[in-house]
Amino acid sequence: MPFKKFQYLPKQIFLKFFIQQTLVIVVSILLLSFFSHIFLANGLKHAQTAAEIEYAYSAAFLFLIISSCFIVSIVSLWMGLKLVWPLGRILVKARSILKNEYTSMQNAVIEPENNDDEWQDLESTLHSINKDIRNKERSLSREREEIETLVSGTTQAVVAVESNGDIMFFNSQFALIFEIPQSGAKRLSDIIRDQIILKTFRHTLEFGSPNTEQISIQTNTDHSQAIYNLSTSPLKNDEGKIYGVIGMFYDITELKRTEQVRIDFVANVSHELRTPLTSIKGYAQTLREDLQNNIDALKLLSPIEKNTDRLIALVNDLLSLSSLESGSELNKQSVRLLELSQRVLGNFQNQISAKKHKVTLNCQSDVLFADRSKIEQVLTNLLENAIKYIPEGGTIQIDWIHEGNQTILKIRDNGPGIPKEQHTRIFERFFRVDSARNREQGGTGLGLAIVKHIVLRHGGKISVNSELGNGTEFICEFPESTS
Ligand code: ADP
Repeated sequence: MPFKKFQYLPKQIFLKFFIQQTLVIVVSILLLSFFSHIFLANGLKHAQTAAEIEYAYSAAFLFLIISSCFIVSIVSLWMGLKLVWPLGRILVKARSILKNEYTSMQNAVIEPENNDDEWQDLESTLHSINKDIRNKERSLSREREEIETLVSGTTQAVVAVESNGDIMFFNSQFALIFEIPQSGAKRLSDIIRDQIILKTFRHTLEFGSPNTEQISIQTNTDHSQAIYNLSTSPLKNDEGKIYGVIGMFYDITELKRTEQVRIDFVANVSHELRTPLTSIKGYAQTLREDLQNNIDALKLLSPIEKNTDRLIALVNDLLSLSSLESGSELNKQSVRLLELSQRVLGNFQNQISAKKHKVTLNCQSDVLFADRSKIEQVLTNLLENAIKYIPEGGTIQIDWIHEGNQTILKIRDNGPGIPKEQHTRIFERFFRVDSARNREQGGTGLGLAIVKHIVLRHGGKISVNSELGNGTEFICEFPESTS
């Protein structure tokens, strides 16, 4: 559309050029015509013959032609120079701006010339672009400096690699942990041989998702074994395309050591407590047999037995937790779920009958490859809670279902429920929804923490669906595994 293009026409320059050109040419033609006329009149004054007249006309015509050519050339030269002069200046400025983009910003500020047409517009636009670029460059280099200071000052080891595995940068901490070859390493695999680390980087690069892995490395400094938490995150460009991965190594050796000290301490104390407690329980039982007719003495004996049982249960739970936390091996085997569930239900038959609960078992999944005693403990703890916390005549539904590549255990009851805001805390050790009431029920406060640990050790996850007054449902998802 030619009319549409008209909007791009620099009207002021065009009008200025057109008026100046027309004026100069018209004035020049008028002047030349006037001089040619005088020239011709002068020639004709002395002409006698026809040949002399013709010569006078030819001379006047020649004068007109030569002077016209001369004037038109001068005018064109002047107009041309006037037109392109500012363009040359703008070109020089544009080139200098371009150069400044690639070299240091040593330039002086380019101020526009004081014209009032589109050339000035162009110059001021160029001037603003120049200012903008310089501001952006300044803030970019400031940001870069801040990031570099942050990365080099951090206590974590940091390394960034490109999508082809080439190293972009690493900080001094990284160089302290890993041996950097004298020749300077180009690729991450030149420095790190550990397959878990390389796999973590590759995984983030492939799937674009952050990844965390716990790794054990022999340090470069004193060759001691250190434990690190490696977190990898993808580096994406403006279009969201992954161009690299940044990896951070957090040293958790000290944390792990203190954690192990704590686990060992709890395990040792529990072990030490178990023997005297079993002995107290034994003596209490003997006393009960000997004091059968002494009602007053039996009344005093009851709380001793009750509290000893509670302490034994607590010590046993603490030992179970310690063994789970210390990462003891799971003894995985094919567990027949129906048989196991019926056995656990059988263990609670007395409590179920005493509280007149209705329990239904629905087993749609046959076998789970897992640690049998641990799965039994999961079922025991969840069922024990349901029996304990729902009022008399309640209903409990146990479901084993198979969904996708998961075996799911659901235990639902119509008990008092758990307030939503406490769902995140319910799996913490010693957390009780109503501490006074629950202690009365004889709970140790460790049952759900043990269940959660067992499910996590099997690579699964646990969740709770519950509302105050609307019953509780615990869901344990176990991934299908054969090893
Ligand atoms: P406890 O030994 O006290 O039962 P748990 O770790 O097994 O400890 O449970 C933690 C708390 O969660 C309990 O004290 C109880 O308040 C709440 N809870 C667990 N299961 C249920 C349930 N089925 N219904 C209502 N509350 C429950």
